[in-house]
Amino acid sequence: MPSEDFRRFGRELVDWIVAYFESIEEYPVLSQIEPGWLKANVPQAPPENGEDFGDVLNDVDELILPSVTHWNHPNFHGLFSTSTSSVGIFGEMLAAAFDMKAMLWRTSPASTELEDVTLDWLRQMMGLPDTFEGIIYDTASVSTMHAIAAARERADLNIRDEGMSGRPHLPLLRVYCSEHVHSSIDKSVITLGLGQRSLRKIAVNERFEMIAEKLAEAIDQDMAADHRPICVIPTIGTTSTSSVDPVNAIADVCEKFGVWMHVDAAYAGPAAILPEIRPLFKGWERADSIVVNPHKWLFTPFDLSVLYCRDLGILKQAFSLVPEYLKTSDQETVKNGMDYGIQLGRRFRALKLWFVIRYFGVDGIAARLREHCRLAHLFASWVEQSENWEMLAPVPFALVCFRACPKGSQDFDALNEKLMNAVNATGEAYLSHTKLNGKFTLRLSVGSIRVEERHLVKVWELLTTTLASIA
Ligand code: PLP
Repeated sequence: MPSEDFRRFGRELVDWIVAYFESIEEYPVLSQIEPGWLKANVPQAPPENGEDFGDVLNDVDELILPSVTHWNHPNFHGLFSTSTSSVGIFGEMLAAAFDMKAMLWRTSPASTELEDVTLDWLRQMMGLPDTFEGIIYDTASVSTMHAIAAARERADLNIRDEGMSGRPHLPLLRVYCSEHVHSSIDKSVITLGLGQRSLRKIAVNERFEMIAEKLAEAIDQDMAADHRPICVIPTIGTTSTSSVDPVNAIADVCEKFGVWMHVDAAYAGPAAILPEIRPLFKGWERADSIVVNPHKWLFTPFDLSVLYCRDLGILKQAFSLVPEYLKTSDQETVKNGMDYGIQLGRRFRALKLWFVIRYFGVDGIAARLREHCRLAHLFASWVEQSENWEMLAPVPFALVCFRACPKGSQDFDALNEKLMNAVNATGEAYLSHTKLNGKFTLRLSVGSIRVEERHLVKVWELLTTTLASIA
């Protein structure tokens, strides 16, 4: 593309994004298209000849935009509400422009060194000791898989060389987590060949927190049966309710049995920046590894997940493999990102996080997270004050679990499902659900960088008027 066109389209595109953010509330949060609509409306074969890029951008308006579910919409309250900041977009733009593949230090000094610096900043912000060193992956699913692989490596069973199949004397390796753990843990044990049989889910209390005594009992039983506990995964901010496992008590158990502790703080990790919330993280500094996702609650565009490890060397021991064509004279003295996981090339993800931290500053980030927690508690207070509604879980961070329970109604599960679908169909807001103690539970997450109190007022009105119309 000639420079003058690149400049023109680049400016048009930035203007487009500015207008998009300015008018984001006019879009339905959930895309309103029927499945298959986009596929049916784009050519099934690629163009023989290059097209005018202006035409391509027109198709963004006509075809792509209607097919977008707007995660950046301030009334996106489903799953975990995540959003990008403008500076995060600049980070992505520049990373794409450099297009570096951070495998070796020499192919990408900027990415390698900025990653170390930025992750150390984030570590300091969250109050973790400097014994932790971080590495960036795409998602928490991948970070956790690497953490369990490191735990398995530390078990010293020579699995890197000999694998697991055809080894009848290998004990059953156990990974422990609560019933409320994210499905990425299940997928990790599947991927690593440990099998779902290896995963032992420990009961939770009435606040959906793992019971540390039950964990100790389970490990005792497993050891008596000659199984080998390799990893325990407490979560700070579980996916269903954002509950907080008692990490300090779990760390005692892990220490007693010499088991790797990996903390899943993918969602809630950034909240450790807030001094008033930090006590919920007590004990995580005793972990062997921790996952935190800046792409969830730190205004950094997807994807960017950080795995902090007390000893990154174990990860290197598990994964480093240097073929001739990647050998360099400096490999003993520099950090080569490819040594710490299954990927060879790695994106320059640190840049966008560096931009975010520099632009907002620690205080700016803390102020936003604090406001999200305030808004979630405000919403919870409306639920608590209304006789037609009830809370179904505590609110440690910025996720509210609740349901409608109007008098005279029999089937609350059916009612709440209908309510959620009706609210989501308006396009005004998006909520998702979970099941808690068998009850269909509405989940409202507050986490968008664009969310204000008026958005919570709006969704509460929407819920109450919709309930009145369907109950
Ligand atoms: N862990 C927790 C607690 C989560 O809530 C999630 C996703 O919501 C994940 C892990 C997986 O995150 P990712 O999409 O980055 O793999």
